[in-house]
Amino acid sequence: MKKFGVLGFPVKHSLSPLMHNAAMKEVGFDGSYEHIEVAPDDLNCFMKRVKTGEFSGLSVTVPYKEAVIEYCDKLSDEAKLIGAVNTLYFDGTDLVGTNTDWYGFIKALEEVEPGFAEKRILVVGAGGAARACLYALNKFGVEPYLTNRSMEKLDEMVNDFDFISVESDLLEDLDFDIVVNATSVGLKEDDPMVVSESLVDMVETVFDLIYLDTKLVVYAREKGKKLASAKRMLLLQGGKQFEYFTGVNPPLEVMWKSIN
Ligand code: NDP
Repeated sequence: MKKFGVLGFPVKHSLSPLMHNAAMKEVGFDGSYEHIEVAPDDLNCFMKRVKTGEFSGLSVTVPYKEAVIEYCDKLSDEAKLIGAVNTLYFDGTDLVGTNTDWYGFIKALEEVEPGFAEKRILVVGAGGAARACLYALNKFGVEPYLTNRSMEKLDEMVNDFDFISVESDLLEDLDFDIVVNATSVGLKEDDPMVVSESLVDMVETVFDLIYLDTKLVVYAREKGKKLASAKRMLLLQGGKQFEYFTGVNPPLEVMWKSIN
């Protein structure tokens, strides 16, 4: 039986084991997938075990998406540009790091906004999730607007992606169709909305990458906005991982049911 898992710290909340175990069962793949919680001091030791082939593949989540890069024998182009690995698998004896967040993001956006390529899109954030959004949007020919609390982080991104940077106090002078929250604002219950109510009033679609009912999601729903789904993003990036892990097409409906 092949072993897989999701590596993180903490990681017990992750829905990935439900999705991947249901998928493996559905397609008759002989494998198991578990939560793998590793403290930062133990990461080096754990990754040495990974390199011996103890696991056939891993999903990687917070806080290790950057830290695992140094252990990879090969990196996909998307992982290099995004600067974050959320998927580890073997190509022969080589440990390969890749990224499927960008794919989940664009597919989940497309489900509610099939014409997204023609829209004015604002992305908020400058971490790994925002970089995955930028990679995906650029790949589909979109140059989004980008803002972040620390504007200097945007300067570090200009060589990697096409975007128009906007200071937060100028946001309301512009016109957007879609706003994407790619920050961690909203993870804590008392977090404020990451953008103002008047900015949300202006757009037709809101995509909060956090799969909770954040203040942003609740307000957008109240206002009748279209909502792209963080949970669909989780599903669709997980489906892509399943292909890397097993070489089999993902049974997305079964995976979706398992996390709902
Ligand atoms: P990072 O830690 O790399 O980046 C965090 C971002 O949030 C930065 O832009 C940071 O701004 C901003 N931020 C943090 N606190 C505040 C604050 N108080 N006010 C304003 N901005 C703030 O995180 P990731 O990019 O890895 O992840 C971001 C989110 O995306 C996470 O919440 C995660 O849950 C979600 N995500 C969802 C996925 C899905 O499948 N649905 C997949 C991947 C991520 P600054 O630069 O100024 O510090």
